Amino acid sequence: MQIIVLGSGTSIPHPERASPGLVIQFDSTSILVDPSSGSLHRAERYGIPIKEIDYLLFTHFHPDHTGDLGPFLFALRNTEYFGSKTVTLIGPAGLRALHSQLLDLYGDWIRLEEGRLAIREIGEERLEFSDWAVTALSVPHTENSIGFRFSDARDNVFAYSGDSDYCQKLIELSRDADAALIEAAQPSALKLPGHLTPKLAGEIARQADVKQLIITHLYPVCDGYDLVAEIRSSGYQGRAAVAHDGMKITL
Ligand SMILES: [Zn+2]
Ligand SMILES: [Zn+2]
Repeated sequence: MQIIVLGSGTSIPHPERASPGLVIQFDSTSILVDPSSGSLHRAERYGIPIKEIDYLLFTHFHPDHTGDLGPFLFALRNTEYFGSKTVTLIGPAGLRALHSQLLDLYGDWIRLEEGRLAIREIGEERLEFSDWAVTALSVPHTENSIGFRFSDARDNVFAYSGDSDYCQKLIELSRDADAALIEAAQPSALKLPGHLTPKLAGEIARQADVKQLIITHLYPVCDGYDLVAEIRSSGYQGRAAVAHDGMKITL
């Protein structure tokens, strides 16, 4: 599988870090996780035409993780670009309400023809598809936040925290992962409730035996810190990197 980071930042505008979001390309399926505002255009910039996106996955419903849902549905109505492609939305409880509230707001401008949109609300469970699988577990951030563990047909494993504070379930999701993209909003000295730090992300990666840790969801204040050194202060010995927009991870 190949992972492309669309945004390594937050809702706070930063010249080089857009809001969260990533694309995961499997053998014949592409999924967009956390479609923040602008993520569709950035996907095109990084070589992923949105007509290739088959699934939209959501970790939670904060605006910096959902902003392009309406624009995505609006774009799909241009059948000269997209044909009659069907797209499936997958996310925690509340996804249907989010969609129906957007419909209340935008009406027919984002309404797709019958059969072109599927919505699946999930709890703590594993879903299996032809060339990929995902396990979701609850994480502490909002009432319904989840994190993901993806695997491909060759059993490569990629974990994504979404937004989360420290918890055992993130360790479970990341167990022996080939790569884990874990949020580390601000350094330890400025830790935000409901979010991790580089050191805590390293702690999770160390306990889960992750081969490669990449930290993301970085607030602008992170620019002034040596984030890899903070990861190392956890004792994590695997490969460690700081995400950047457009980063590709191939497993
Ligand atoms: Zn959030
Ligand atoms: Zn966020």
